[in-house]
Amino acid sequence: MSDIYLDNNATTRPDPAVVDAMLACLRTTWANPSSAHAPGQAAKRLLQTARQAVAALCQAQPAEVVFTSGATESNHWALLGALQRTPERRHLIITALEHTSSLALCADLARRGYAVDVVPATSQGGIDPAAVRARLRADTALVSAMHANNETGVLLPIAEIAAALRDTDIPLHVDATQSAGKVPLDFRQSGAASMALSAHKFHGPKGVGALLLRKGLALPALLPGSQERCRRGGTENLPGIVGMGVAARLAHEHLAAHPESTRPLRDALEQALRARLPQVHIYGAALPRLPNTICLRLGRLEAEPLLTRLERAGIIASAGSACSAGGSEPSPVLSAMGVAPDEAHCAFRLSLSRHTTADDIHRVIDVLCAFAEPSRAAA
Ligand code: PMP
Repeated sequence: MSDIYLDNNATTRPDPAVVDAMLACLRTTWANPSSAHAPGQAAKRLLQTARQAVAALCQAQPAEVVFTSGATESNHWALLGALQRTPERRHLIITALEHTSSLALCADLARRGYAVDVVPATSQGGIDPAAVRARLRADTALVSAMHANNETGVLLPIAEIAAALRDTDIPLHVDATQSAGKVPLDFRQSGAASMALSAHKFHGPKGVGALLLRKGLALPALLPGSQERCRRGGTENLPGIVGMGVAARLAHEHLAAHPESTRPLRDALEQALRARLPQVHIYGAALPRLPNTICLRLGRLEAEPLLTRLERAGIIASAGSACSAGGSEPSPVLSAMGVAPDEAHCAFRLSLSRHTTADDIHRVIDVLCAFAEPSRAAA
């Protein structure tokens, strides 16, 4: 029996059509897209096709898509670019739930003398837009909030946060890395000035992503150079970008045809676990969430040994974010929600993809119940 992969928030399996398009690009369209000759122009056309597909996935204009090396770079560019754009403003607002790529940068900026306000998470794993509003200052350069949390899947109230900024000239950066391809995105309507994406979260390759930049927003380049209309230097990672474009097109088509995609399977899994294991606790369940994510604990069963047993049974999952897994520190997201360390060590995440089947879910339910039932640990 093949493994059941339920760690899709860490990364997804590249779609075979993505791999084919990347190989074709490497084999035949390997010229530099900035070259004036015919092979260069053929490469440039691939770049444009990918840009259109990424724009369509996010309801953005193609000119608003700038390719980067992934969401880490996109987040860094959005934050550092905002500080460079308005150098007299030295205050940033960020939520406590952000990805390490943003939080670590903010910690570094704070050490360098910038004022960083971290908006606390609610105990349910959300953010109160009023808490963002209360922190706005005359010298605020940027507000940064993620669309969906990578660990709990909780969707943050981006529209309300954008509304709080409407009468100001403070830009909003949204890290949409986990939501792109899983729920419909509308960059134009979102009120965001910039949005970070990463191809490997929606069945594309690693090491390629994008920053969507609202038309008219002059964000100084993080990597100055002539490519991407002088917004991001460096010869384009064309095979990666081609892969991202195909992945974006497939995700867009899938979302249009099956807007609820993984939700019925995720909900069936949750309902079965709740019915059979009274000790199950699901984090963020009271708030709107991504349709593919469950962050849970089974009473006081420790996550690490449980994950090892799951893997032996052919089920691949993880304890929270891949970026913090492996350490003995409890998940920063659960800590921000006020979850005690001994409880956080019991939490693990199951994240589905459009390739997850009902049979997979039945097997996961049976295996989890078999592991959890003998102990009947108290919640
Ligand atoms: N933001 C979020 C919410 C993420 O989940 C991740 C990846 N774990 C990133 C940013 C970083 O993305 P990348 O791997 O493309 O640098």
